[in-house]
Amino acid sequence: MKPIDNLIRANIKIIKPYASARDEYKSTSDDLVFLDANENPFDNGVNRYPDPQQSELKSTLSDIKNIPSECMLLGNGSDEVLDLIFRVFCEPNTDNVITLPPTYGMYEVLANMNAIELLKVPLNDQFQPNINAILNAINSRTKLIFLCTPNNPTANSFTSKSIERVLRDFEGIVVIDEAYIDFTEKKSWSNRLDEFPNLIVIQTLSKAYGLAGIRLGICYASSYIISVINKIKPPYNINKLTQQKALECLLDQKRLSLEIKEILNQRSRLLQVLEHITFVDVVYPSDANFILVKVDDATKRYNQLIANGIVVRNRTNLPGCYNCLRLTIGSEMENSKLISILKQIQ
Ligand SMILES: *Cc1c(COP(=O)(O)O)cnc(C)c1O
Repeated sequence: MKPIDNLIRANIKIIKPYASARDEYKSTSDDLVFLDANENPFDNGVNRYPDPQQSELKSTLSDIKNIPSECMLLGNGSDEVLDLIFRVFCEPNTDNVITLPPTYGMYEVLANMNAIELLKVPLNDQFQPNINAILNAINSRTKLIFLCTPNNPTANSFTSKSIERVLRDFEGIVVIDEAYIDFTEKKSWSNRLDEFPNLIVIQTLSKAYGLAGIRLGICYASSYIISVINKIKPPYNINKLTQQKALECLLDQKRLSLEIKEILNQRSRLLQVLEHITFVDVVYPSDANFILVKVDDATKRYNQLIANGIVVRNRTNLPGCYNCLRLTIGSEMENSKLISILKQIQ
């Protein structure tokens, strides 16, 4: 394994981060007079800049996830975290990254935005990584491989064996996107950072935690990688309202586990019903809060659902997903409506 240092762009290595007022003086003690950040002094709850290092939120996350705060970085959604990773490791018009389609569309958008070549190595017919093809695709300019597990839109998890192969045999950074990890029994890779210095794990509060609207993504990596990403993150990327709402939600683990349990119950219910819908040809197994189905004619069925007030995702144009629809698990009532309309239109 090459030192991680060799993978970082030269300009990023020498960059001096912006030192914000709140970075220089952190004390929140009430008897200090803060005249350092040109803020409005009249208290309305958000008149002061937020904590740029989100210490309270990270320490709560640290307790829940059992990962030290210095191995964590928070972003304005995972999308910001992914963009920062591109900018730390990938030299525009020079480096490349590998994705395994069909997968999350943002990796490709971010590669294009950052002028980074994208090498696509399709999943096999079981929607598992094709290890030999991945290892063959890697060249000296390959900096990142994205593994989304459970994968969007296929809903399955990759085998630990194949993930471990990539982590061991690739000398660049392996980014494991665990946006749906809370819907599976499979273990998070975030607790194996010590074993793999080239591992970055991404999670989000947008799915299981029910906080898509506040935009909070989490990146776990070695404290060294985190310290480098920290240098280039916008100083106040997580606003105060987001930090407060995230804390409030994280401290209510009971509500969270009840909601996940209910979503999993509804998933079992939908999986069973879908098996008996005549125009459904394949119901793929799911480790996520959505189900991928292959139907007789995806576009026709998509339009019929729309006409009946139900919006799903038509994935027919993705490689390996011909005639596939992706259905998010809704509430009991929403799923009942879906089921009755599926039965009606067959
Ligand atoms: C939904 C999703 C995300 C979440 O992105 P946010 O910007 O955190 O909302 C990340 N990765 C995958 C694969 C997703 O499906």
